[in-house]
Amino acid sequence: MNYFDFHCHLDTQELDETREDILHEMKERGFGACTIGVDLKRSQIAVVLAQSCENIWCCVGQHPVDTYTEEFKASEYQKLIDEHPNQIVGIGECGLDYYWPSKDVESGEKTTEQLQVEKQRQQLLFKKHITLAIANDLPLMLHVRSSAGTQDAHHDVLEILDLYQNSNLPKVVFHFYTEGPELAKQIIDAGFYVSFPGVITFGKKVAELEESVKTVPLERMFAETDTPYAAPAPYRGQTNNPLYVEHVYKKIAELRNEDPEIVRKQIIQNTQDFYNITF
Ligand SMILES: [Zn+2]
Repeated sequence: MNYFDFHCHLDTQELDETREDILHEMKERGFGACTIGVDLKRSQIAVVLAQSCENIWCCVGQHPVDTYTEEFKASEYQKLIDEHPNQIVGIGECGLDYYWPSKDVESGEKTTEQLQVEKQRQQLLFKKHITLAIANDLPLMLHVRSSAGTQDAHHDVLEILDLYQNSNLPKVVFHFYTEGPELAKQIIDAGFYVSFPGVITFGKKVAELEESVKTVPLERMFAETDTPYAAPAPYRGQTNNPLYVEHVYKKIAELRNEDPEIVRKQIIQNTQDFYNITF
């Protein structure tokens, strides 16, 4: 395997026209990927995709805000995990997203009391995923987004994870990491991982994030596209796809001033270890 997209959504309708070609090219060029569920139905689709391609694996779980109304049914996810142990390599994406609910308070659509209720809903949902991950010894794929200009959700996530530190907590990754080096250090010191998206290629505007890429130990990071969103330069603004992850790998090497081949090999190794897969 030459490159591996650590986190993407291959089932997205944005890829309906191109999916087959992309999957074909991925196989030809030695690209692998983990496609991520955001609710029960899309988790089931992720499993089907992983079953149909030997270079694709998947995570199953419920996004903190993508599906506000869905009731999380642990037994349904457990059934999926039991039936597809070779495809399902992690639980998520799950976590806390205070960004959107906080915006609703700013715009007057929600009261601060409703925001508190929403935060509690998300925290409970997150804890159910942690329990599922521990029960199956599967790593946790976290979506964490704080309200603008703060790190409130990140701090709450770290606090919640701390409650489980003596409960055989599996490996934990903060996907789409775009924060600065101080928070990255806290995450690494707690024993967790970060996954960098195409945003690291955006130049001057992301100087803080670039600092994170430089300072996080190479053994503790991954590279992702989060397809279909946030395509890296030189494809900014276009629909993303896992083939573009190559640009994230190369940018990591460039920012760290390290040999791209050494960086590539190490991130591939990290990915195999994290998901407990071999290719
Ligand atoms: Zn995602």
